[in-house]
Amino acid sequence: MTQQSTVVAQMRQLIQLLAKHNHAYYVMDTPEIEDSEYDQLFHQLKALEEQYPELTQPDSPTNKVGGKALSKFESVTHAVPMLSLGNVFNAEDLFAFARRAEERLPNQKIEYDVELKFDGLAISLWYENGILIRGVTRGDGETGEDITQNVKTIRNLPQVLTSNETEIPTLLEVRGEVLMPKSGFEKLNAENEAKGEKIFANPRNAAAGSLRQLDPAIAASRPLAFYAYGIAQCEPNHGQSTMSASLEWLTQFGFAVGERHFICDNIQDVQKAYEQMIIDRPSLSVEIDGMVIKVNSLKQQQTLGFLSREPRWATAYKFPAVAALTTVENIDWQVGRTGTLTPVARLNPVAVGGVTVSNVTLHNIGEIHRLDVRVGDTVSVYRSGDVIPKVEKVWPEFRPVETVEIQLPECCPVCSSPVVMPEGEALARCSGGLYCAAQRIEAIRHFVSRKAMDIEGLGDRWAESLLHLDLLKDVADIYSLHEHREKLLTIEKMGEKSVQNLIDSIENSKKTTLGAFIYALGIRGVGETTARMLANTFQTFDAIRHADLDALKKTPDVGDITAEWIVDFFQAPHNLEVVDRLLAAGIHWDAPIAPTRQPLNGESWVITGTLSSMGRDEATQMLQALGARVSGSVSSKTKCVVAGEKAGSKLEKAEKLGVPVMTEQEFIIFVQQHNG
Ligand code: NAD
Repeated sequence: MTQQSTVVAQMRQLIQLLAKHNHAYYVMDTPEIEDSEYDQLFHQLKALEEQYPELTQPDSPTNKVGGKALSKFESVTHAVPMLSLGNVFNAEDLFAFARRAEERLPNQKIEYDVELKFDGLAISLWYENGILIRGVTRGDGETGEDITQNVKTIRNLPQVLTSNETEIPTLLEVRGEVLMPKSGFEKLNAENEAKGEKIFANPRNAAAGSLRQLDPAIAASRPLAFYAYGIAQCEPNHGQSTMSASLEWLTQFGFAVGERHFICDNIQDVQKAYEQMIIDRPSLSVEIDGMVIKVNSLKQQQTLGFLSREPRWATAYKFPAVAALTTVENIDWQVGRTGTLTPVARLNPVAVGGVTVSNVTLHNIGEIHRLDVRVGDTVSVYRSGDVIPKVEKVWPEFRPVETVEIQLPECCPVCSSPVVMPEGEALARCSGGLYCAAQRIEAIRHFVSRKAMDIEGLGDRWAESLLHLDLLKDVADIYSLHEHREKLLTIEKMGEKSVQNLIDSIENSKKTTLGAFIYALGIRGVGETTARMLANTFQTFDAIRHADLDALKKTPDVGDITAEWIVDFFQAPHNLEVVDRLLAAGIHWDAPIAPTRQPLNGESWVITGTLSSMGRDEATQMLQALGARVSGSVSSKTKCVVAGEKAGSKLEKAEKLGVPVMTEQEFIIFVQQHNG
């Protein structure tokens, strides 16, 4: 393709998209994209046309206004066209707007009238001898829809003009916006929801939808309001010389104008007023999507005149976008402290909701496939309030030709261990838990915790410092810390005594139990009880390490997914390396307890109520010594419930499910018999 035909193709694509969204917005009142996204597409087209004016397409919407008039209403040709406004999005563009005005008004001081930019529907009201004759929508700017009957139902709009001060004009055409104030919008949606009727996405759609009802009774039932922002014609002339004075003049006839407006001496003050409105916006009674900046002097307005679809003397200064389009430059996988792999889209930086966004999480591989997002794609990034930005959708229209579907990486980007994701799980993980640098701190904290290797002080007090000194690359390094006494002494608050205590504690930890060691490895899904069950069932570490999936699944307390995690853990070569170093360092445990001494192996028991002769912990240990698993809740799988004094709902549930119940006395005899 030549460059020319590529540009034309781009233009055609944008024109088609804009036409589609114009229809949804102006005709159906059900926009499918955010206004800010629409504006971006519009500006892309405008930029192309500015760069290649000779290629501008005859049906381009950049020199047209709004949507088509609906045939269900009578069309009316506007005596004075109803134009749109140009728009700016930042201070730089605002100052450029002012500079352009200054160039056309050399040596003149320019004052600005700064108004709310109402987010509603533009209409024109035609009064003859003070009587409202016609209300017309903007339509395509040249021709609008006659909605007089509906307009007459708007309560704050004068149908007859009266004034004690001024003569009533023979002809007055007022321009303004029909809105649904926020309170009315919320009430309407609440009522509609209760009746199971249509919920409106925002006040603009609600206002537009209400105003273009064929039945004026429906419009009458909707809380609509009209705010005037300009005079298109007035006979005899109203005699005002500024924009702000002309609006003030309208209020004497009962017209409502914006609840805030500013007159600024210079463009810097306009910027300040705009920034103030960003703060004040939530407290306004109506929804606005920016400010409208107008040259205040009507004479200067006349000199400046119009461009094809917009005046040169005014511009809309829109509020920061809540959604913006940008492209995905890369998709990286980040490994969290617990081994979770999270895909992160690296974006071409874009301003959304007032901040620049360049990274956005894609959550997991499922979300990537749902969106079908690929490197090179154009995406919508959405951010509302202080919510974290997210990729809302991919624009397939803009997808480059050669893109590839994103797959889950096979190896961890940090440590190259295999990445695993058991069926039914949403998150993928790195299986190199013991070795992976990203998971180091969590692995160490867990390894030294009380129920694991029980190395006092190391996890909470020293782990971070040891990592910073590069003394711990993995948990096996703990057992060579004694070789680094000098370095240990450099840690703040680590004196001779603490070093000795730490080294002693490490040495003492070497004598452990097989269950505690298995638990310490931090295999996903393997808690303290599961670890003990594995030890009881398989008896030796080697047997566990080489156990196959089926054997693991049959182990009490090991679910199907946990069985997979165990296999994955022992298949990651780096984990095995660390395990071998741990064993070589001298970690050991007593020979296995003969399985015959485990009469309750795998059974689930529950203790409830208060025991008088022993604490619950003691009773739990007694049961665990017999191989039982002590659970906190009763189910049909519970083998037996030991019920002390004041046993409540658990006892009730056991009785309901027919689970055997023992009193404390019966339990003591039972334990004695089994230990005897
Ligand atoms: P606009 O809304 O950006 O600005 C012009 C309009 O502002 C005027 O016609 C007038 O009705 C209104 N306005 C409000 N307060 C005013 C004030 N104080 N003084 C003067 N005018 C005031 O432009 P537009 O041509 O009406 O509509 C284009 C906009 O509509 C786009 O920028 C986009 O945000 C939105 N749009 C969205 C979609 C979508 O799919 N989401 C589609 C089409 C258009």
